[in-house]
Amino acid sequence: MQGSRYREGKGKGFNMKANVTYWLDKTADRFPDKTAFADERKAVTFRQLKTQAMALATQMLQMGLFKKPVVIYLEKGVDVLVSFMGAAYSCNFYSPIDVDMPASRVNKILEVLQPALVITTKELQTAFESYEYEGGYLIFEETVDASADEEIVEAARCRGIDTDLLYVLFTSGSTGIPKGVTINHRSVIDYIDWVTETFDVTEEDSFGNQAPFYFDNSILDIYSTIKTGATTYIIPKNLFAQPVPLLEYLKEKKINTIFWVPSALIVVAKLKAFRNVDLSDTLHRVLFCGEVMPNKQLNVWRKFLPDVLYANLYGPTEITDACTYYIVDREFADDEPLPIGIPMINTDILILNEKDELVKDDEIGELCVRGTSLSMGYYNNPEKTREAFVQNPLNPAVPETIYRTGDLVRYNDYGELLYLSRKDFQIKHMGHRIELGEIETAVSSIPEIALCCCLYDEKRQKIVLFIEEELDKTYINGQISGLVPEYMLPGKVVSLEKMPINANGKIDRVKLKELL
Ligand code: AMP
Repeated sequence: MQGSRYREGKGKGFNMKANVTYWLDKTADRFPDKTAFADERKAVTFRQLKTQAMALATQMLQMGLFKKPVVIYLEKGVDVLVSFMGAAYSCNFYSPIDVDMPASRVNKILEVLQPALVITTKELQTAFESYEYEGGYLIFEETVDASADEEIVEAARCRGIDTDLLYVLFTSGSTGIPKGVTINHRSVIDYIDWVTETFDVTEEDSFGNQAPFYFDNSILDIYSTIKTGATTYIIPKNLFAQPVPLLEYLKEKKINTIFWVPSALIVVAKLKAFRNVDLSDTLHRVLFCGEVMPNKQLNVWRKFLPDVLYANLYGPTEITDACTYYIVDREFADDEPLPIGIPMINTDILILNEKDELVKDDEIGELCVRGTSLSMGYYNNPEKTREAFVQNPLNPAVPETIYRTGDLVRYNDYGELLYLSRKDFQIKHMGHRIELGEIETAVSSIPEIALCCCLYDEKRQKIVLFIEEELDKTYINGQISGLVPEYMLPGKVVSLEKMPINANGKIDRVKLKELL
């Protein structure tokens, strides 16, 4: 039997630590009855998480799936995490799709990913059946309590290695096709080892999760919990619009660590919710990543919670969440930039100028990354992969890939990195990564529109759409709401008599910027 053959080989070549589920095995042994994850409706202990994930893994392997893409189509909650672990135990790789995502975008993702299976509920299956997908389903509630076949799961894991994919997360693509960032087990293992060592995460910690599971910030909460035996509470989304109840929730659940996008921290700071809820005995660490954290708002947090550890993490999905960090260790004026700091362990950061040479002193350059954190490329998209994952220009001797982030940075006098701006048309709006080209592609599909251009008004935090036709925002957003997620809808539409064109015959974005 195949299972036993691999089991025999276990002592020789099998690397248990090649798969993130190794952590869950250990933690389920150490803290079987401790809560691993909890959402509004339910909670799972580490033992339950393992048992349920093993049941899903058994089913996937019995269906003959190994190293295949598996879509997780479930409401955000504990069941998603059980499914992630099920995919990992079976050596398949998961890709979460948000249940609120517009149909056309789901279809684009399905076309790229070509999933072998969709894990969902009976109820959500009906919705999914309207998409362009003809493969199989695994119904969560019908499978999760089935008994697991440990042998078959073990046999699969014996065949897996650490460079096998763990997940694919889709991000905005400038041509309108979302890009599937692939990440393997090794990248997550290295990253979480760094996180848990740097921030001393133990079983006594509790995370308050904000990040959607289709966004890579969630990796920190999920895998730090699985590795150490901490607990993660999945905070109900609606609380992020109500700072006082949000802080009360943190206090009630005794959450001592949060890793949120700056947008979520800014809302709390603006409304000065700390005056109503004292978190000084509760909160120990406030980590953030994903966009610029203004010191103006960070200073409000620091004033009310001076003893908390604050850290600014920086990085794109393509390098497994973060590659540089800065633990806040000095005072900053409200208008000073907060550094993104220094490289994480086992990560090399190259700042390249326009000639692809290392920058000197405080010269501005593009931040490029080298190391095990790098994605293996965009799934089924060799062209985009070739553009961003390139040969290290400083190493002509052997093939060595670096990832070009498109972020412009420079060093400050402390030798720390400062984030300045983007090289391209990618923006961050309320924590979401958006390619303005994706919105333009959607708008161009409106029959009346001949030419359009999108810019981001940083000051007012608005996506501004320029068109030549007399059409209003409600009409336009109504037309494209089925094509792009809600957070990509323009906040302002400007009708121009004529679109400005530059000497190269392209839309003159500099002129348009002056109109913001
Ligand atoms: P995402 O792939 O969604 O994580 O987005 C990655 C992009 O967000 C980066 O390339 C940066 O442009 C921006 N970003 C991430 N973290 C930070 C940070 N700490 N400060 C400034 N910008 C950031």
